[in-house]
Amino acid sequence: MRGESKGVAILGSTGSIGTAALRVIERQQARFRVTALTANANALLLEEQARRITPSPFVGLVCPRAANPPGWHAGPECLVEAATRPEVDIVLNAVVGAAGLDATLAALAAGKRVALANKETLVVAGELVTATAASGGGELVPVDSEHSAILQCVGRRPANEVRRLILTASGGPFRGWSRERLERATVADALQHPTWRMGRKITVDSATLANKALEVIEAHFLFGVPYDRIQVVVHPQSIVHSFVEFVDGSVLAQLGVPNMELPILYALTHPERVPDEGVAEFDPVAASPLTFEAVRESDFPAFALGVAAGRAGGAAPAVFNAANEAAVALFLEGEMRFADIAAATESALEHLAHVPAAGRDDLLAADASARAYVREWARGAQGAPRGGETPEGRATVC
Ligand code: MG
Repeated sequence: MRGESKGVAILGSTGSIGTAALRVIERQQARFRVTALTANANALLLEEQARRITPSPFVGLVCPRAANPPGWHAGPECLVEAATRPEVDIVLNAVVGAAGLDATLAALAAGKRVALANKETLVVAGELVTATAASGGGELVPVDSEHSAILQCVGRRPANEVRRLILTASGGPFRGWSRERLERATVADALQHPTWRMGRKITVDSATLANKALEVIEAHFLFGVPYDRIQVVVHPQSIVHSFVEFVDGSVLAQLGVPNMELPILYALTHPERVPDEGVAEFDPVAASPLTFEAVRESDFPAFALGVAAGRAGGAAPAVFNAANEAAVALFLEGEMRFADIAAATESALEHLAHVPAAGRDDLLAADASARAYVREWARGAQGAPRGGETPEGRATVC
């Protein structure tokens, strides 16, 4: 049995992707077993998850705590430890933000499959990550629903048969909001996503459309398609998860109810499909009508900013990602207005996009500089310094 099933490390097991992955694997016990779990800070849920798994998995908690159960690993380095263990075949990286980068790199260098829900690592260091996969023999398989859709549509077709990728965007909670109303958007408003139930950071990114910019960059690196041939369309029902247009003009799309268990399962089984009872049967009549509209780029400036950062390359995507992460954290703490997320990110890009980007250390330095810049920017915007409440100048937030 053990020899047949694949060992899975779930990094970020207490978040929305991690808990969904545990449900998927529980249904698929003949094929997969959890061999490692890590969480950022939710020790209670992590302990409960670990207790349900036999044999006992590797357990890691990123943020230090006074006392952990015996055998637990602690600190940020537990992510790389979990990702590189010999009994791990697949690393499901569901860490939030740039904190997931080292584990992705280590797993790819060790020749493992990385089921990537942590899109930020591909944004921060896309060239490094894809090069590490190529040299280490590892494999990147997307968990993001749009990229899973594209992978499923492209199948084994060669890249030169793909003309265009068209990513769908739900439009988030503010799709129909006027620019004036957006100025007054609150944290509670931003956390009301219409179709997907997700963690707080990505839900705010969906409200600003920064998430879709991150996904354009992610698609560029995953599929090797130039930015000119990646487009985005708003599709409020979140049923069509993306389109691929081929060179003969034919367009394929992947459809399904918005449930992350579907792309999580596919990331584990790709290129195969296995029977699974977790997702409701698709009803085209109930799903209709399916509608599409253009992105309102001038009202959601984070989108164009992020795509431009992707096109600029170098440190710009890392700066965009880190500035956005820091700004979203401040917004969630009530320290920044919704509209200032994009304004602070734009200012960070103007000041920092051209810093060195020669490798991991440069990129993480750019990341730290962008976070520090945004906190300073916010202090300036608020008119007075604040102490102690904001995240530190590093990717890991405890
Ligand atoms: Mg997505």
